[in-house]
Amino acid sequence: MAAPFSAGTRDAAVGALPGETFDVLVVGGGITGAGVARDAALRGLRVALVERVDWAAGTSSRSSKLIHGGVRYLQQGDVGLVREAASERTVLRRIAPHLAIPVTMVMPTYGRAMHAKLGIGLWTFARVAAVEPAERHVMWDRETALREEPTLAGDRLHGAAAFVEYLTDDARLVLDTVRGAHDAGACCANHAEVLTLVRDDAGMLATVRDRLGGRTVELRARVVVNAAGPWVDDVRRRADALGAARLHLTKGVHLVVPHARLPVRHVVVMQAADRRSAFAVPHGDVVYLGTTDTDHGPPADHPTVTGADADYLLDATRRTFAGAPLTRADVVAAWAGLRPLLHEPGKQPSELSRKDEIMVADGRPLLSVAGGKLTTHRRMAERVVDLVLARLGRAAPSRTATTALPNGTLDAAALAALAARLERELPALGAGGGRRLVGLYGAGAERVAARARRSAVAAEPVPGLPGVLAAEIEHVVAEEMACTLEDVLERRTRSLLFDRRQGTDGAAAVAGIVASALGWDAARTAAEVESYRRLAASLLEFP
Ligand SMILES: Cc1cc2nc3c(=O)[nH]c(=O)nc-3n(C[C@H](O)[C@H](O)[C@H](O)COP(=O)(O)OP(=O)(O)OC[C@H]3O[C@@H](n4cnc5c(N)ncnc54)[C@H](O)[C@@H]3O)c2cc1C
Repeated sequence: MAAPFSAGTRDAAVGALPGETFDVLVVGGGITGAGVARDAALRGLRVALVERVDWAAGTSSRSSKLIHGGVRYLQQGDVGLVREAASERTVLRRIAPHLAIPVTMVMPTYGRAMHAKLGIGLWTFARVAAVEPAERHVMWDRETALREEPTLAGDRLHGAAAFVEYLTDDARLVLDTVRGAHDAGACCANHAEVLTLVRDDAGMLATVRDRLGGRTVELRARVVVNAAGPWVDDVRRRADALGAARLHLTKGVHLVVPHARLPVRHVVVMQAADRRSAFAVPHGDVVYLGTTDTDHGPPADHPTVTGADADYLLDATRRTFAGAPLTRADVVAAWAGLRPLLHEPGKQPSELSRKDEIMVADGRPLLSVAGGKLTTHRRMAERVVDLVLARLGRAAPSRTATTALPNGTLDAAALAALAARLERELPALGAGGGRRLVGLYGAGAERVAARARRSAVAAEPVPGLPGVLAAEIEHVVAEEMACTLEDVLERRTRSLLFDRRQGTDGAAAVAGIVASALGWDAARTAAEVESYRRLAASLLEFP
């Protein structure tokens, strides 16, 4: 039985890093690093995984949260990628059913030619991707489209296509994947930054700074995997191994509006002014809108959402939906992420390849990985670990396609039953609260509920955070390695993204619970609340 995945385990992991020579050090705890660490640990390698901020703190908590079937790759003529995306979607449904939720996506058509072309495209996709009969697309005429999705603007509408896509929670997928690595024996520490990487006899010597405790430790690894996402070039520079291939970062923004202002029934594909597709995705009592695709300079922890980004998306909603036009005043939350793509001279942001790439450093056991997707991360990790094993002169088959993630042990029917039961047993969760809890924690929702049953205080909702019990906050600190208020509210409960007040009304109460668990004093607690409120406000400034 692995040790609990807590802040205490993190401290112990940092302390243990200098004690041995690891087979592989993975730098970066986004979906790429998490996937590589889990695969390598399940194949019996000694793995260290270090993350500068928090699990999923980079791009992997700021995506559109879609597990793509791959329709768009068909448009680009990449049949191999279509098949890979479709088969990875099936794997994810098997190993983490709570993180691959089927939804109907509606793509409006504007004219006979567009309607016919889309129908042929989806027909081809269904064959190439071997889509199950129950999930095949249907084409709607105008009348049906307006009946099924009454929010659509009718003036130019010809009809629509409806097909099944899958939604995930990106940060929760990363967390479960890191926990899978931890359970398989990997030494995992968040808030631990790789400062330098130098060649030594065993392989590479890394200097790692504990950003919470302030200490600096050294660790040895035979092979290093640089999975630092937008910071891949930065880590290569720290290893003095910046090769010819360079990253090209593009920014993608999402806005959140109340569902009452845009009461979509389905995920709807919007067409923006430049003819790019964007999505409106219903999520509880809000809808998120995204995304943009614009050039971005050096990586930033919290890329800015500008007024131009906001207006681009709001304009796309006005082109697609009837009803009172949305304005900046309707936006209750926002996020921005950076795509770590490979630079291709002369190409526009939306033309850059979305394929993953593994770059091998000259004369050093250093592999850098860029450009992957949440959807296909598991296969990419498998390819990376195959290369690592070849370097180590070892062989072992990957087990990630058949091993459930730690919270992924219940199928869809069992998850629905659990959600209904928790809502009956814990009335403080409110309507839809059981579904929210199960959506975030999967089978682990039962552990949150067990905490709530043990103490009346834990069973109370957090003041200012409807539907979130004190037990949930205690759980993410004790069992999900949350170490700061931002860790809790941005990437565990997702309040920063999906609460209609960005979680700010509950921030002080949550900080109080975390303070008791982690021993924060009054000054630290106040600083955490202040820093969180500043972050939330900055995302809605729209400079
Ligand atoms: C707007 C947007 C929408 C997207 N939508 C989708 C989608 O719907 N479906 C899909 O499949 N994909 C989507 N993607 C793509 C997907 O989100 C990314 O490709 C993926 O999350 C990248 O993960 P990563 O682990 O490589 O990078 P990251 O998640 O950024 O992880 C890298 C990590 O490395 C850490 N790090 C950096 N330097 C150091 C250091 N020196 N020491 C230790 N750690 C370090 C960082 O803190 C960071 O957490 C989207 C991307 C964007 C930007």
